[in-house]
Amino acid sequence: MNLADRLHTAAVRLGGRAVLTLDEAALTYGVLDELSARLAGLLRCRGIGAGDRVAIMLPNVPEFGVVYYGVLRVGAIVVPLDPLLKRREIAAYLGDCGARLLIAWHAFAETAEAGSAGTKADCFFVVPEEFRRLLRGVPAEREIASMAGGDTAVIHYTSGTTGRPKGIELTHANLGGNAATVARMHALGVDDVVLGALPLYHTYGQTCSLNATVHAGARLTLLRRFDPGRALEVIRRDGVTVFQGVPTMYIALLDHPGASDLSMLRVCASGGAAMPLDVLRAYETRFGCEILEGYGLSETSPVTATNRGGRHRRPGSIGWPIRDVELRIVDEEGRETPRGEIGEIVVRGPNVMKGYWNDPAATAEAVRDGWFHTGDLGRMDEDGYFYLVDRRRDVIIRGGYTVYPREVEEVLYEHPAVRQAAVFGVPHPELGEEIQAVVAVREPVGCEDLRDFVRERVAAYKYPRHVSFVDELPMSPTGKILKRALISR
Ligand code: AMP
Repeated sequence: MNLADRLHTAAVRLGGRAVLTLDEAALTYGVLDELSARLAGLLRCRGIGAGDRVAIMLPNVPEFGVVYYGVLRVGAIVVPLDPLLKRREIAAYLGDCGARLLIAWHAFAETAEAGSAGTKADCFFVVPEEFRRLLRGVPAEREIASMAGGDTAVIHYTSGTTGRPKGIELTHANLGGNAATVARMHALGVDDVVLGALPLYHTYGQTCSLNATVHAGARLTLLRRFDPGRALEVIRRDGVTVFQGVPTMYIALLDHPGASDLSMLRVCASGGAAMPLDVLRAYETRFGCEILEGYGLSETSPVTATNRGGRHRRPGSIGWPIRDVELRIVDEEGRETPRGEIGEIVVRGPNVMKGYWNDPAATAEAVRDGWFHTGDLGRMDEDGYFYLVDRRRDVIIRGGYTVYPREVEEVLYEHPAVRQAAVFGVPHPELGEEIQAVVAVREPVGCEDLRDFVRERVAAYKYPRHVSFVDELPMSPTGKILKRALISR
């Protein structure tokens, strides 16, 4: 049941084949398994074992895999941290989970050290050459800690902006099961090359890119950070067959002048944020490969529903639930809504988290009668396809009318000058909220033009009265427009 078992099993079968590559650096299954066993040996020497928390702050480098599987191998819990976190955030997360160790990339040493000061966590810095040399001198831990499916493998901290941090506890079974399902759905095999464009510290990259690759015996070619030109180069150089991205990555690829045929991509998956229909169509026309949009959350390991390819696909929808997972749309009282009506999406299945770390109240609030309440609004059509409407907390109430920002954003994306769009409510003395749009454009366009463009296409209460322009919208690494950052500006 230990995720590290999967790596070991793959190493026995495929020892000499590459699993993690970053430009010239390459780890084979055999070497990754061996190095992670040595890292496990190092942890054992420090007295770290089952249930201990080890935070890791690493970019998309092959060493991520060494540390990740090494920590899991001794039965300890990985706490992946976003390398861009600031001192205060690091301190809050380390304090909350009581981490004993923080393993950080050398370039983040200063913030890591400052963040861990005053916590129980010691720091260990990964400097690539030294790291290899150090591990060569450490006896490998051959035993892989045997875990029950319900044992925690990873604690992911939510990107929540205020209040006490919430650590999402995902088990070996949660993550292993979700990765296996993804691998099966994409028919991943040993000849596949997956582009590692998503950050591995996030569940989307960790499950769909890293763990699904290892499950299938495929190869993951990493990008340190997403850059469209670099991504295209690597796709061609390494013969990438599977691309998992977020909508902003697809938009960036579309905007890149050098891009041409990408029909070698067998699978293009999108998730993490709404894929604007216009972007999907433009991408497919230009590159000749279909995009499969899916939906998930960190609390659900993350994949919950996805489109299937070919005639099963319904652009604009998130498809239907993956194997063994149920999705329902419920009203405020938790009753299932009639088909077509909007309500909250709730999820039940083996991918639902064990709970929030040390927070039974938050867990009980989120998981009721086995159903995880996502906070996302959606609807299901007559054929069982699900559509995401918006996040519950982003809905705008303007003069008593409900406005779903996503609907307005979709219209803005139809305008040829618009590259990125975010719509949200701003306080208004009479209406309660007024609608504001912030856009990044490809070419100059007036506020009036954009306002009129939307006004002609939606009901009068929905079009944005205020439109402002920025060069780039603030964006999380998983492609979510940080609306709260825009609102507080
Ligand atoms: P995270 O926990 O960081 O993975 O974020 C989960 C959130 O991402 C969900 O609650 C949704 O609001 C959003 N999300 C994920 N997939 C989609 C999608 N296909 N369309 C729109 N929003 C999405």
